[in-house]
Amino acid sequence: MKWFISHDTLRSLFQETLEKDCGEKVSHCYQCGKCSAGCPISFQMDYLPNQIMRMVQLGMEDQVLSSRTIWLCASCLTCTVRCPREIDIAEIMDYLRRRAYKKQVIPLEETEIPLFNKIFLRNIELFGRLYEMGLIGMFNLLSGEFFKDFSCAPKMFLKRKIGIFPHRAKNIREIRDIFKRSGKLAHSKKDRLLHPKLLFLNLFRKFIGKIEKLK
Ligand code: SF4
Ligand code: SF4
Repeated sequence: MKWFISHDTLRSLFQETLEKDCGEKVSHCYQCGKCSAGCPISFQMDYLPNQIMRMVQLGMEDQVLSSRTIWLCASCLTCTVRCPREIDIAEIMDYLRRRAYKKQVIPLEETEIPLFNKIFLRNIELFGRLYEMGLIGMFNLLSGEFFKDFSCAPKMFLKRKIGIFPHRAKNIREIRDIFKRSGKLAHSKKDRLLHPKLLFLNLFRKFIGKIEKLK
C-alpha cells in the first residue's frame, strides 16, 4: 500500500510526543532491521517492527495506531535486546497500544487482545490472583465466543486446574493499593473493560460471521 507523506506529516509532533512520553529515542533508529529479523510474531504482522519505527519517524500516527502489529506484539523483548541503537522497541509497542486504546482506534479483529488484558487485570485487582473461571466466563461472554474451550472444562476440573470459587490472596489490600496508585499515576478516569462501541461492533461481526457460515 502506498502512503502520501506530506510536509505536514513530517513536521508532526508524533515522534516528539512519543520520545517525551516513553523516553525512547525512535529518531536513533537507522533501519538495520535486526528487530524485525528476530521477531517471532513478524509473520503475522501487517508492518514489521522496523517499519513501525520508520512510520513513527515520518509522523504516520493514524497508520501506526490502527495497525495490527502493535496488538500482536507479545512483549517478548527480542527486538529490544537485538537493537544496536539500544531502543526499547517493546516499550514503544506498549506505549502505542496505550495511545491507540485511549484514542479508540483498535482494529476490530484485534479487540479481543485488549479485552483479555483488561479482564485479566481486573481479576487480579479483585482477588489478588487469577480466578480462572471468572476470566474465562467474562471473556467468552464479552467476546461473543460463548462456548469457546467449553469441552476442556471437565478435564480441567478433574485435574484441579480450575476451581468454581475464587480464592483471595492474603495481601489483597496491598495489591489493590498498587492498582489505585498506578491509576493515579496514569491519570486514568474510569477504566472500562473495553469501549462499548468496540464491544458491540465485535459482537456484531461475530454474529454476522456465524450467519455466513450457516449459508
Ligand atoms: S517485543 Fe514484540 S515486536 Fe519485539 S520481538 Fe517481541 S513480539 Fe516482536
Ligand atoms: S534494531 Fe533498532 S536500529 Fe535496527 S531497525 Fe530495529 S529499531 Fe531500528
